Amino acid sequence: MAKALIHDGTKSWWNGKVTTLCGLVFESGNSERLIFTGVSCPVCKAIKKAK
Ligand SMILES: [Zn+2]
Repeated sequence: MAKALIHDGTKSWWNGKVTTLCGLVFESGNSERLIFTGVSCPVCKAIKKAK
């Protein structure tokens, strides 16, 4: 099993989908896999830093 990356993203208010900064979309129900602290995804980190 691949090592899970921790992404940063935003959760949709209307359908529960989470879109990460690096462009991944997690369906509603998988959002517990996303933790918005201790982000380890290098793409998410880079985008957040650039903001
Ligand atoms: Zn990411």
